[in-house]
Amino acid sequence: MDPRTADLTTDRTTVALWEGGDAVRLVEVPLPDLGPGEVLVRVRLTTVCGSDRHTVSGRRPAPVPSVLGHEAVGDVVAVGPGGVDAEDGGPLRTGDRVVWGVTVSCGTCDRCAAGRTAKCRAVRKVGHEAFASAWPLSGTYARHLVLPAGSTVARVPAAVPDDLASPAGCATATVMATIEAAGPLAGRRVLVSGAGMLGITAVAAARAAGAAQVLVTDPDAARRDLALRFGATSALGVDEPVGGGDVAIELSGSSPAVARCLDALDVGGRLVLAGSVTPSPAVPLDPERVVRRWLTVTGVHNYEPRHLRAALDLLERTRETVPWSDLVTPAVGLDQVGRLLSGPAGPAPRAAVVP
Ligand SMILES: [Zn+2]
Ligand SMILES: [Zn+2]
Repeated sequence: MDPRTADLTTDRTTVALWEGGDAVRLVEVPLPDLGPGEVLVRVRLTTVCGSDRHTVSGRRPAPVPSVLGHEAVGDVVAVGPGGVDAEDGGPLRTGDRVVWGVTVSCGTCDRCAAGRTAKCRAVRKVGHEAFASAWPLSGTYARHLVLPAGSTVARVPAAVPDDLASPAGCATATVMATIEAAGPLAGRRVLVSGAGMLGITAVAAARAAGAAQVLVTDPDAARRDLALRFGATSALGVDEPVGGGDVAIELSGSSPAVARCLDALDVGGRLVLAGSVTPSPAVPLDPERVVRRWLTVTGVHNYEPRHLRAALDLLERTRETVPWSDLVTPAVGLDQVGRLLSGPAGPAPRAAVVP
């Protein structure tokens, strides 16, 4: 029998508990009784997001100990009393294959009311909560996790395999938020700065949105090659001149790259910043250039529930034309999480774990 099927009836689970630095230990813990609005999920496959590697290397603060991991796909094992609705409005059922949003919001504060639930004043994040808190099973480097009330839970289309679905809840949905912020892309010239997981995904998303040209910049030749296979019309190193862009999507987080994006925009151009998630040097802004060129600069951090749906739609629509599986290495076991978090980066943008 599939071990995951056996786990549907267990009352205990195993988590990869991060204890600071590169210390990760497998720990068996009891499964909690669910409260209203809560969902218990058996993780099918989880992918290692770069932000977890940043956490372990000390670049991103996080509570210790905790269960890290936020990108995953899993099966619903149980829902709390009264039931829980999926993102599509229908009730979640045991056995549904789902992904979920990284942010959990209150739904009532001023920011939630304004439609910015990712910036909820009481926001909590999957894979980012203390193990000694009201939400110990918050992370996906585990056999099970609990999704609290206020989570976005979306059913995965049957045609989308686990390794494509797993990044939907972080990388793909974040990219869909940047694509929305970029405005209509049909016929436009798009610059994607940075060809990591988000940049490569943005290339495919921009092409799917009808962009006429997608130029990618990245210092790494192998990443540029990958971008071309995902539909980029050209790929350049970071020292080569770029210009004539209608839209620039900055996903590298490098300040010089931000400046280069600003320089590359044509009249009416729009710069979407999403890669700058750690402190970085300020970038000079020439206000006359912004005025005379009618430029717009905007930022995107995390995403709203509709972007998770957009991510699944993109993956379903492009699963046969875009080599999505090339972004994910073959899966290893939960006991390898420590090595994946603190060891050298792997050959693909995402390492997969089947807990
Ligand atoms: Zn992430
Ligand atoms: Zn709120």
